[in-house]
Amino acid sequence: MIIVMKPKAPKASIEHVMEIIRENGLETHLSEGKQVTIIGVVGDKTRLNLSNLEIAPDVDKIVPITESYKLSNRKFHPDPTSVQVGNTFIGPGHLALMAGPCAIESEEQLLLIAKSVKKAGASFLRGGAYKPRTSPYSFQGLEEEGLRYMKKAQEETGLATVCEVISESSIEAAVKYVDMLQIGARNMQNFQLLREAGQSGLPVLLKRGLSSTIDEWLNAAEYIIAEGNRNVVLCERGIRTYETATRNTLDISAVPVLKSKSHLPVIVDPSHASGVRAYVAPLAKCAVAAGADGLMIEVHNNPACALSDGPQSLTFAQFDELAKELKAYAALSGRSF
Ligand code: PEP
Ligand code: MN
Repeated sequence: MIIVMKPKAPKASIEHVMEIIRENGLETHLSEGKQVTIIGVVGDKTRLNLSNLEIAPDVDKIVPITESYKLSNRKFHPDPTSVQVGNTFIGPGHLALMAGPCAIESEEQLLLIAKSVKKAGASFLRGGAYKPRTSPYSFQGLEEEGLRYMKKAQEETGLATVCEVISESSIEAAVKYVDMLQIGARNMQNFQLLREAGQSGLPVLLKRGLSSTIDEWLNAAEYIIAEGNRNVVLCERGIRTYETATRNTLDISAVPVLKSKSHLPVIVDPSHASGVRAYVAPLAKCAVAAGADGLMIEVHNNPACALSDGPQSLTFAQFDELAKELKAYAALSGRSF
């Protein structure tokens, strides 16, 4: 439920309403917008005596929230959220370009890629140190050694860094070296991992589960925010459908749907969505046109020899070309990078 205050409601009235809610053993979530102030109520609202609230000074209306996710709900927080990561951000006015290898393979490889994507205009370096692979015999990642290379790349280039975590111990390691944690598609509903990521203090990039609905996805985000970490970014990376021409099917409608249901920033990963290098650029442009706040794109110095996801990785020249084109697409919707 949210309590919408009358325009220009004085601080004393807002505090009075919050006091009533807290006295009933519930938590408040304050959202002070340009026009109105909204007070979100989190917890078992059957404990709340509504008549006291209805007559409180400067209360405009009480609106029930039917969705099970509250803190990630746009009704709780009407203005779009901007998430700060290192010295950059993901949110209104900016197109956050994240690029890098699927897996970190060596220090030389990562630094080479970091410098190249930075030159092209990326503000984030992505790279997997813990790889959740379908086969247990595939390359599983360099783990903490890979994280150390991420730190080095961050120091040398100034790029913000994002790395997938798959367990409590990987979170403990990652917080020492990177700027943002990634929860992968396979772990979107690993609720314990979501809670631990919520407690990490770092912003979290939450990928959509392979077969997850938008409702399930926003509830997953809720697990992180409920731990006190509001810095969550959603990443659409394609879903399982009957189509086999692409690795997954990019659900581009997820972008405007999420924007209407949630205040959280949304980015798109056309690399995992398609699995095919040739489709990455058109899908990236389409994501920007749909209103995505950023893109995550796999780039490799030698895709033919990549230890993971070579067929969908762009070469340096291809990424460079795409970034140039994206500048124009971003400008059309008042964004830059
Ligand atoms: C990745 O980003 O490297 C990755 C494994 O993505 P996803 O979880 O979307 O499959
Ligand atoms: Mn990959």
